[in-house]
Amino acid sequence: MRWDNLQLIPDQPDNALITKGAVVRTIDTPEFRGVTFFEIQARSIINRVPGPSRVPFEWTLNPYRGCTHACVYCFARNTHTYLDLDAGHDFDTKIIVKINAVELLRRELAGPRWQGEPIAMGTNVDPYQRCEGRYRLMPGIIQALIDYRNPFSILTKGTLILRDLDLLTEAASRTRVSTAMSIGTTHPDAWRATEPGTPSPRARLHAVATLNEAGVPCSVLMAPILPYLTDSPAQLEATVKEIAEAGATGLTPLVLHLRTGAREWWLQWLAREHPRLVPRYQELYGRGAYAPKAYQQRISAQVAELARKHGIRERTVRQAPPAKTKAPEPEQLGLFGR
Ligand code: SF4
Repeated sequence: MRWDNLQLIPDQPDNALITKGAVVRTIDTPEFRGVTFFEIQARSIINRVPGPSRVPFEWTLNPYRGCTHACVYCFARNTHTYLDLDAGHDFDTKIIVKINAVELLRRELAGPRWQGEPIAMGTNVDPYQRCEGRYRLMPGIIQALIDYRNPFSILTKGTLILRDLDLLTEAASRTRVSTAMSIGTTHPDAWRATEPGTPSPRARLHAVATLNEAGVPCSVLMAPILPYLTDSPAQLEATVKEIAEAGATGLTPLVLHLRTGAREWWLQWLAREHPRLVPRYQELYGRGAYAPKAYQQRISAQVAELARKHGIRERTVRQAPPAKTKAPEPEQLGLFGR
């Protein structure tokens, strides 16, 4: 286990998390009620994507584990089980904070073996989840990347990214920077039901516009598109239209995939909220984590058409590869650009 200063004692009545060396913190404000933070001293911060992997980046950086954005479908849920935590409620409420992330990053960037390769952030969990407002790890991380002229990308749902706009603008003038906002749908009910801890899609679209206006390229990962919930022609069109109006530099649609961890949590939610859809999901995902190719291709084609209609120029079209990390980098999958 990577974070060997955390131990779960399974036979404790409350499944208590016992830590050695981690500072355990709760924050008594409504937005963090029920959330426990485990501040740890990580051993390393730049991680190589374990190979073989089909994701288009080799190095990642994740200052947090677990995510209070609490998206029901989150692809990263299973990574919490590596910490002996569960992929459901624990993922949403037990957050590991790599409190020494900035110090470690500076050390690793200065190391003799580091070659200045691009670093992808937001590949596991969201670096701009709510607690980043308190821990403020990202400004130090971005400043270190600026100082070393190290290219990087950030994928997020957090409008908190705008707090760091000046730093990101500076970074974009000194090295290669790309950002992407994840917005699967702009439908308010679907958003509230499936992404309860996130800023609204409208607020995220505003962030897309603001980043681009400031000279920080920002595209949209239209993900995940949820079968029978957000995939109607009208919903797809409304979402693509708003993404186009926000001035996104690119658009990448990605259909929901359900791997272990996310799969169980999602299906429990579906059975509770939309029981009539359970057989239809069994049909789509009964054979594996991915929806059938024909379904994915149909959605891609629909989004491509809508993107053309709303003025987003078509670029390369690829299917999303099965990924070990949470999501592929938008411009690699990604289907449309301005
Ligand atoms: S914001 Fe991203 S990392 Fe966080 S719960 Fe949602 S999908 Fe997962």
